[in-house]
Amino acid sequence: MPDPASTSPIHGGTTPAALAEALGRVLDTTRLRVNEPLAPYTTFRIGGPADVLYDATTADDLATAITTARALNIPWFVLGLGANIVVGDRGVRGLVIRNQAKAHRLSADGTLWTESGAVVQDLVLETVRAGFSGLEHYIGIPSTIGGALWQNLHFLSPAPERERTMFISEVFASCEILREEGDRRVVDADYIQFAYDDTVFHHRRDVVLSATFRLEASDSATLHRILQENLSWRGSRHPWLQVHPSAGSIFKKIEGVGAGRLIDQCGLKGFRVGDAQISHIHANILVNLGHATSADVQALIAHAQAAVREKFGYELEPEVGFIGEF
Ligand SMILES: Cc1cc2nc3c(=O)[nH]c(=O)nc-3n(C[C@H](O)[C@H](O)[C@H](O)COP(=O)(O)OP(=O)(O)OC[C@H]3O[C@@H](n4cnc5c(N)ncnc54)[C@H](O)[C@@H]3O)c2cc1C
Repeated sequence: MPDPASTSPIHGGTTPAALAEALGRVLDTTRLRVNEPLAPYTTFRIGGPADVLYDATTADDLATAITTARALNIPWFVLGLGANIVVGDRGVRGLVIRNQAKAHRLSADGTLWTESGAVVQDLVLETVRAGFSGLEHYIGIPSTIGGALWQNLHFLSPAPERERTMFISEVFASCEILREEGDRRVVDADYIQFAYDDTVFHHRRDVVLSATFRLEASDSATLHRILQENLSWRGSRHPWLQVHPSAGSIFKKIEGVGAGRLIDQCGLKGFRVGDAQISHIHANILVNLGHATSADVQALIAHAQAAVREKFGYELEPEVGFIGEF
């Protein structure tokens, strides 16, 4: 394979086809697509094309794709399930790397090693069936492992208490990352600085390649009960993703009040701009009624912010990432 560092940098004004041609000297061309619409790769089903989309199928492949883009001076973005982003209608310049690195291994002592493109829901089912506890809280949440560590995935503790928020950091042991300096390193929780909806990955361009979790032996039947209770809890409070695409909660939590409650108290449930609507059942979730654009979403966000500012004096801050050109 050619050395990514030996390729010459690309400069502005290059066409998507030329970007793909340069990337294709190092990456597998059968997995490179030019001008690929991103909407189908997001849970919101919104967004214009990536200049170039590449499917990375192993952790090494993911690292090579990033290293190659860096060497060529091509902007790059790592895409998981696209569950926490709004992609602009005009798309994303440069390279979008879709993380499809899904290899994983569960050991008899409950150690789970997994590449970062593995889907959390698949790992939940596999570990629960094998009788290991730790991931069951995250059933029904669309996420790759990379996305889950990026944001410190969270959900409420099991019924009936539901008295506290549980975080993926609680079962995290370590992960291998490609650092923004270009080296690969295994790091622990001290490096990641897990917080609420925040980790080091929000502040540095490090990328998770693989991760290790420590799960506890438990009773599979009990874990299946928890899965059913969690799914039922979610199903009764959130719009159903398959019918009403969304990006989950749009605004950050406001301690003690809840962004959704404030928006609801402004009478905005059901309010819409174009095909983007504030959900009737959860006011902190915007849904795509079919043909919503990123412009609709931005206008709806601005409307909700203005209403809450005027009525309560709170500044609502978006939780989702805005990717590309709007
Ligand atoms: C219906 C619905 C319900 C949800 N419920 C919850 C919930 O209960 N709790 C909760 O915490 N979240 C929830 N979310 C939000 C979302 O599921 C999480 O933020 C999830 O972790 C996003 O993962 P992803 O793989 O889709 O990441 P993406 O949306 O694809 O990417 C998000 C960010 O992570 C970065 N990223 C992705 N992979 C890597 C990697 N390997 N290394 C470094 N950075 C990376 C991306 O570059 C991007 O900046 C919900 C979303 C939806 C749509």
